[in-house]
Amino acid sequence: MYRIDREKLQAIIREIDQAIYNHGHWYQNLIRSIVCRLPFDERDIHEDAHHQCPFGQWYYSCDNKEIKKNMTFISIREEHKLTHNLARKLLLAASVEEIILPIDYDNFSNSVERLRLNLQALKYELEETLYNRDPLTGVKNRVSMLSDLRKQMTFIKRHLETTVIAIVDIDHFKQVNDNYGHPTGDLVLSNLASYILQHLRPYDSIYRYGGEEFLIMMPHTNIDTAFSIIERIRTGIENYQTHDHNDEYIRVTISAGMVNLEEQYNIETAIEQADKALYEAKTNGRNRSVVFK
Ligand code: GH3
Ligand code: MG
Ligand code: MG
Repeated sequence: MYRIDREKLQAIIREIDQAIYNHGHWYQNLIRSIVCRLPFDERDIHEDAHHQCPFGQWYYSCDNKEIKKNMTFISIREEHKLTHNLARKLLLAASVEEIILPIDYDNFSNSVERLRLNLQALKYELEETLYNRDPLTGVKNRVSMLSDLRKQMTFIKRHLETTVIAIVDIDHFKQVNDNYGHPTGDLVLSNLASYILQHLRPYDSIYRYGGEEFLIMMPHTNIDTAFSIIERIRTGIENYQTHDHNDEYIRVTISAGMVNLEEQYNIETAIEQADKALYEAKTNGRNRSVVFK
């Protein structure tokens, strides 16, 4: 998993805001120069206008690895290039007093609008990351946990879903901090979160519930399947070297408590039940999974 650098992300969100503003301004100027037959900016008819405009300069020099993997960010590349290609077509026609075909104008203005929407979507996605993710582990935080669980509960009440939640707690984690220091503890925690995330099914979710506790939501699942998923993860972690500290491999174990989400209970009750099962796992010797009964 990755650690979220909040300041970098905030800076990128501000840059996207600026880009939305700049492109709006560019669009208005371009239309103004065509309608009023004013001289236009020569850079706009260059083949690489999309590299030269202020947004292009920002886009092509952006070196943030996470953003560059973002699908919306990737699709903006083509849309932005298309916007400039269509703008060039309009400007070239206007420069020789040719009539601009409605289809060319429509294509251009639709592309401008799609670009604006894509930039807006990218901004919302990054804001979501900023406010709903835990900065240390990169998994979702408690804010999104409760709203996701409530949403899931509405499906359960309509008998559209069966869902199991599990609370996973690292065993004797305090000792990791005591033996290796807090920064190493942080690394162990974030490596463990990525291990769990990688071993869940694509539609399962993991949230940082507390300090060294995670809540896992497993939709489309009965308790037996959930138990085997969590057991597989638990035994995997038992054999997993979470961190190499001065050539000493750190291993940890986890305990888990789980419960099926029942329509007659609310989320808070279900979490208490999973917590009780977790407590039982701890008192029975740790490194085990217990289903609430
Ligand atoms: P148990 O098996 O009963 O769960 O024992 P434990 O030591 O894991 O439990 P305890 O609740 O006594 O201690 C939890 C520890 O987790 C103490 C706290 O310093 C550590 N912890 C919580 N959040 C973080 C974190 O973000 N980073 C680090 N490094 N440590 C954390
Ligand atoms: Mg704990
Ligand atoms: Mg613990």
